Amino acid sequence: MVITADLRSDTVTRPTPAMREAMMAAELGDDVLGDDPTVRALEARFAREVGKAAACFVPSGTMANQAAIRAHTEPGDEIIAHEDSHIVQYEGGGPAALSGCLVRVLRGERGQFDEGDVERAVRAVNDHFPVSKLVVVENTQNRGGGAVWAQGRVEAVCATAKARGMKCHLDGARLWNASVATGAPMRTLAGPFDSVSCCFSKGLGAPVGSAVAGSEAFIARVRRFRKQFGGGMRQSGLLAAAALFAMEHHVARLADDHARAARLGAELSRVGGVSLDPAQAARGVETNIVYIDLAPGLGVDAPALCERLAVRGVLMLPTGARRVRAVTHLDVDDRGIDAAIDAVRSVLG
Ligand SMILES: *Cc1c(COP(=O)(O)O)cnc(C)c1O
Repeated sequence: MVITADLRSDTVTRPTPAMREAMMAAELGDDVLGDDPTVRALEARFAREVGKAAACFVPSGTMANQAAIRAHTEPGDEIIAHEDSHIVQYEGGGPAALSGCLVRVLRGERGQFDEGDVERAVRAVNDHFPVSKLVVVENTQNRGGGAVWAQGRVEAVCATAKARGMKCHLDGARLWNASVATGAPMRTLAGPFDSVSCCFSKGLGAPVGSAVAGSEAFIARVRRFRKQFGGGMRQSGLLAAAALFAMEHHVARLADDHARAARLGAELSRVGGVSLDPAQAARGVETNIVYIDLAPGLGVDAPALCERLAVRGVLMLPTGARRVRAVTHLDVDDRGIDAAIDAVRSVLG
């Protein structure tokens, strides 16, 4: 079977020929010994981009978040995060396993919460209670449909956390999508946070890699925990070169992914029995993630729909019994979107 559109995730992209050339041309060293010049260049470039003093290149977004959490906390501390956040849903219980932390989950539309929610969740200082130590915000919010936080709300959340003596971490796996969607520079979006993590291997199209940024002292701790977690890499300049190439060439084009996701969402919601998930129906598709819901009477559930689409060369991800996710990225062009729309129409039509 020929796959014409793989919309399961923006992680499925393969490095372009030009990116592979940049990787092959990279100057290399041993990064654990601190002398891979390409990794050094990437870390400096990323730190500048997000307006922080220092950065550390890591193998995955999960390690970026978990090393950051470990660096900000000690066992017995409590993290405040949305119940739909990546660190709660998709990181294997990392905060408990690796940092000995509890997570106090908040609820709210599109994976978001506000400063009042934080204020209510912060613990009083008392030997009985865990120590409220860290607030984690996810932007864009994956399970919230690629939702972008209003910057005013981010600032209020972080100001409240800071006033209560807490640190703030931004899970910005798709922060470039938020930046392109809003026109706000990365350093503005990351400004209110003590630390930020971003993925090069999502919409930016690099094969591997994420980075964490923050103060010099914080990044020194992240580097130590990266090693402890097994994420110290040697000639990783090969990967850093791909990330540098992606930052240089693949950011502005995210606007195309957003336009394609909007078109896909609009067309799919016109198919009988299909609707955008309620939050996206109200606000429109904000970035590159589309969630569709299937009506109960349709006779086809999400896994069955995805199986039948796959036979037609279109891959989407069932994320619930009646919910399907489609994500646009640089390996899906307009023809791929047309093929996806046609495939859904032919299965459900
Ligand atoms: C993808 C993602 C991550 C990191 O995932 P990895 O697969 O470990 O790279 C972290 N946060 C969010 C919001 C993500 O979407």
